[in-house]
Amino acid sequence: MTDFLDQDIQFLPGVGPVKAELLKRELNIETFRDLVYYFPYKYVDRTRFYRISEVQANMAHIQVKGRITSMEVVGVGPKQRLTAQFRDETGVMELIWFQGVKWQKEHLRLNTTYTIFGKPAEFNGVINVVHPEIEAEGDISLQPAGIFQAHYNTTEKMKKKYLTSKAIHRFMLTLLDKMKGKVPETIPAGVMDRLKLMGLEKALHTIHKPDNSHDLRNARFRLKFEELFLIQLKILSLKHNRESKFKGFPFTEVGYNFNTFYHHYLPFQLTDAQKRVTREIRKDLGRSIQMNRLLQGDVGSGKTLVALMALLIALDNGFQACLMAPTEILAQQHYDTITGLLRGMNVDTGLLTGSVRASDRSLLHEKLADGRMHLLVGTHALIEDAVNFKKLGLVIIDEQHRFGVAQRAKLWQKNDTIPPHVLVMTATPIPRTLAMTVYGDLDVSVIDELPPGRKPVQTLHFFENKRQDVYQFMRRKIMEGRQIYVVYPLISESENLDLKNLEEGYRHISDEFPDYDVCMVHGRMNPADKEREMQKFKEGRTRIMVATTVIEVGVDVSNASVMVIESAERFGLSQLHQLRGRVGRGADQSYCILMSSFKITNQSRKRLATMVRTNDGFEIAEMDMRLRGPGDLEGTQQSGIGFDLKIANLAKDADILELARSNAREILETDPLLQSSEYRVLRTSLLRGKKTDFEWSVIS
Ligand code: ADP
Ligand code: MG
Repeated sequence: MTDFLDQDIQFLPGVGPVKAELLKRELNIETFRDLVYYFPYKYVDRTRFYRISEVQANMAHIQVKGRITSMEVVGVGPKQRLTAQFRDETGVMELIWFQGVKWQKEHLRLNTTYTIFGKPAEFNGVINVVHPEIEAEGDISLQPAGIFQAHYNTTEKMKKKYLTSKAIHRFMLTLLDKMKGKVPETIPAGVMDRLKLMGLEKALHTIHKPDNSHDLRNARFRLKFEELFLIQLKILSLKHNRESKFKGFPFTEVGYNFNTFYHHYLPFQLTDAQKRVTREIRKDLGRSIQMNRLLQGDVGSGKTLVALMALLIALDNGFQACLMAPTEILAQQHYDTITGLLRGMNVDTGLLTGSVRASDRSLLHEKLADGRMHLLVGTHALIEDAVNFKKLGLVIIDEQHRFGVAQRAKLWQKNDTIPPHVLVMTATPIPRTLAMTVYGDLDVSVIDELPPGRKPVQTLHFFENKRQDVYQFMRRKIMEGRQIYVVYPLISESENLDLKNLEEGYRHISDEFPDYDVCMVHGRMNPADKEREMQKFKEGRTRIMVATTVIEVGVDVSNASVMVIESAERFGLSQLHQLRGRVGRGADQSYCILMSSFKITNQSRKRLATMVRTNDGFEIAEMDMRLRGPGDLEGTQQSGIGFDLKIANLAKDADILELARSNAREILETDPLLQSSEYRVLRTSLLRGKKTDFEWSVIS
């Protein structure tokens, strides 16, 4: 049996096949349910009346009560229009009709009290309203729907066929009327009671046709809750599924390797956050369930060390482990760091990247296959089929947003029976609400503390007119022995133009700093050249590096203490933050200088001000989400979840999300498969979602 709401939209009276086709194509509205879940984007307050003397041309909408004192048809042919003088005791304005002139002239009455509603404009010092909604007192046929009138988004194509906001509203009223008593409650009674939620039918009614703002608020709350609740149930039950389906190797030992390293080779005290996160990971690894954990921590928060300790736990339990990085430079760097830290310990560590020679590579393959090699660091070269481990127990993926889902899946399959534990590390902080949704089925650890003694990077924003001062400052820093990055954005669609832009920048900087060596790095160089240029900078042979965002990940030069970002307004917030993370790695005070032109948008201004104000990656991520909306954030596009939330907003509804998540969790704890009859409707609602939506999460 199909639900009432599952009926095809063309069968709603007034719609029909032609309009149905348009609704489907333009708005994805295929069923009654799709329509009733198509929510207004705004409401116009019809409670307020203005006096004519108060009306100004820049108001969005006005509602005025008055009388028509005279009417006149002006012009001929298509230019013909009807103008009416409309008065109240405070003044006079004009009402204008270009269409239906004859009909209006016959039906409008002089000296009758009318209420008009519309958008005011001004012409020759007189306020007018073109095509107002108009109704005589006591005339109910044109009564506005509800006191707050709902407005719906439509498209140009729809408007051409008269499928306007008003038309949608008319369909909605028909549907609301027909669906009385036919909408089963989705949310279980227990939750409804506890949270005192408005019932579904009333909420749907209210959101399209509110009587007062109090009810409207409650309706919106309920519908937001429902949306987030269903998503959380889905995510959490997938997690539950995965955990019951996929066993994991229990790493019960914390033994020789871990302890030797911890007590003898660890070069510094761990921060409290590093300790806490390490404990979380240890605990996870000890269960017989596969770990799927996301480790978030700002640039420089010390994730590598945490990763290394997790790797050592794997070794302690007789397993091999690997660490995968998104670029060769980064892989090399991790390899250097790890072999450096483990020097003196008997751990055989290998590096596998695209540029490892074939002969070395086959030896590496051999050692991995027979278990002589314990630890492998590499790029995605290590997911190639030729790479076989004897006993892979843990996979750590650094900077996860650069890996696609499919690549991660391949790593998973390196073992035949039991998949390795997975730890994903990211330096792109994700707002909590987003993490709970996009990575909701992963466990999340957060390093929210930087190692001690680090001086926060000082960030400054300058306009063009201060350029010479900035150069002066750069010279001083170079004389003090420091090094400098100058970063140019990708500006055009054309790579050639971008390169030209960068090369101009390079020449310009070379001219300004004739006494110092300048190098240039960009994404289109061949890897060997890039490597060579980076190496020169690392060794201090060049003082200034002019680059595109290729340096965003990976370069670690602690002597570089100034980062100048050209046309900073063109970068996203999280990218600016990533770039800034390249400095502030040494003991000296570091600086990030944001250069911009005078002409920047308000949004850009806010972004740059945020950068100047705070170094906190999470705060920046929150702000980024607020400014751009969750759909644009890095990490969400690849996640596979379409971010088509209909009413909830991840940037604003964090508290509702928490509530939804805790209630979902509670239900799944007692009834993980939602088998109780109490959850019947809930179960159907969950199954209705697009089937492919969440499959990805199995392999995240
Ligand atoms: P990220 O989280 O960006 O990967 P890294 O692991 O590269 O950060 O660490 C950044 C720097 O901080 C490294 O030079 C590392 O040696 C140092 N570091 C990490 N943990 C500590 C600590 N507890 N105390 C002092 N320095 C630390
Ligand atoms: Mg790192």
